[in-house]
Amino acid sequence: MNAVLAPRRERTTAEWQAADAAHFLHPFTDFQSLAQKGARIITRADNIYLWDSDGHKILDAMSGLWCVNVGYGQPALVDAATRQLKELPFYNAFFQTATPPAIELAELLSEVTPPQFNHVFFSGSGSEGNDTVVRMVRRYWDLLGRPERQVIISRRNAYHGSTMAGASLGGMSAMHAQGGLPIPGIVHIEQPHWFELGRPQGLSRDEFGRVAAGWLEQKILEVGPEKVAAFIGEPVQGAGGVIVPPETYWPEIQRICDRYGILLVSDEVICGFGRTGHWFGCERFGTRPDLMTFAKGVTSGYIPLGGVMVGDRVADVLIRQGGEFTHGYTYSGHPVACAVAVANIRLIRELKLVEHVHDDVGPYLAGVFEALAEHPLVGEAQTCGLMGALQLVKDKASGTPFPAELEVGMVCRGHCFANGLIMRAVGDRMIIAPPLVITRAQIDEMAALIRRCLDLTLADVRGRGWL
Ligand code: PMP
Repeated sequence: MNAVLAPRRERTTAEWQAADAAHFLHPFTDFQSLAQKGARIITRADNIYLWDSDGHKILDAMSGLWCVNVGYGQPALVDAATRQLKELPFYNAFFQTATPPAIELAELLSEVTPPQFNHVFFSGSGSEGNDTVVRMVRRYWDLLGRPERQVIISRRNAYHGSTMAGASLGGMSAMHAQGGLPIPGIVHIEQPHWFELGRPQGLSRDEFGRVAAGWLEQKILEVGPEKVAAFIGEPVQGAGGVIVPPETYWPEIQRICDRYGILLVSDEVICGFGRTGHWFGCERFGTRPDLMTFAKGVTSGYIPLGGVMVGDRVADVLIRQGGEFTHGYTYSGHPVACAVAVANIRLIRELKLVEHVHDDVGPYLAGVFEALAEHPLVGEAQTCGLMGALQLVKDKASGTPFPAELEVGMVCRGHCFANGLIMRAVGDRMIIAPPLVITRAQIDEMAALIRRCLDLTLADVRGRGWL
């Protein structure tokens, strides 16, 4: 048999783990501890379920990594990739060339995004997209003769990726602690996290939303409005713990950006493509961003692709003022990735997944989370479309958290894995973002698993004498 086409060698879980530990440096991982424990080996998937190398079925309440919006095993995406791989597996978009899938996708994205977006710049990932944002924002102000407008304001506990610019825009202290970040010209304000910051002060959610937006204005005045280029934020902070901002927050942020003429960048890497029950999170919260980063859901994660939607305000300057924008990636507009994205967006439309989240499973999940909020371990339950968070607390009445070093979230996550459920722990916030194709019956199945894992965590925490 042709060695290139040989089937993948079957190995036991232990053999996979040994080879993994010997050669594979995983992202965001303590290498030594993983090598000791052995990685979980995921071998196949269908719809909202995964199977590991021991044949265990797992309900994937995180859509891979917030990306498999249309669910696993959609033949239309596989066929689009296969056809494009055969026809033209690669050509670049440098040197005044283009491929049909990249052009088609650019057109389609202009259709499904808010009206101010008529142009796109492609990247290979969300992190690269946000690097593009930094380059593009500064280029915009340079072209307007305002090179002193360099500073980009972001938020603590934001996640905008893991490249130098992405990690700098992000507000994760553990990331800033490595490698001398943030890079110059990026500053942060506090996050709109009512449970952590507003509730202890006795502020209502709406009052707190206005206070939190006010921190942007304070920072603009502190930096000097003439030096501020842009503000960037995720409509709902994802990796930070599904922090759904108060309704008053984003309209006030928009007002402040308008007042000082600074660009508003919406990082839609998680919130885009239906996750919030709207095509994009900015539509859910009523903002009019100038730039919008996307990745993940654009291909439902079947193949890497990211990019930046460029609003007319910025595109007009980049195009009209002319001159080369000295920026781009080998895979900007990769034809196979773009072909998959086109098929994915058509499928989202055909299956009416945005409506499905908005009218059906989103409100249904909200009801289910309201019921889970009654659990003695849960201090706060929040959802937005098909994202949800359960804040685990030591004392429900006062909202007192567990000491961070107990890592109660990790205890709960352990029970989830052991019971066939993938839920993520961000500190003591347990979060979900299931595939958008999930049904009400599957939400019930997921909720039963969550409840069982909360009960097991409660018993465990009591057993350890932490309660
Ligand atoms: N922005 C946001 C909001 C994200 O959630 C992520 C990834 N989780 C990124 C950017 C980075 O995307 P990538 O991992 O594709 O580089």
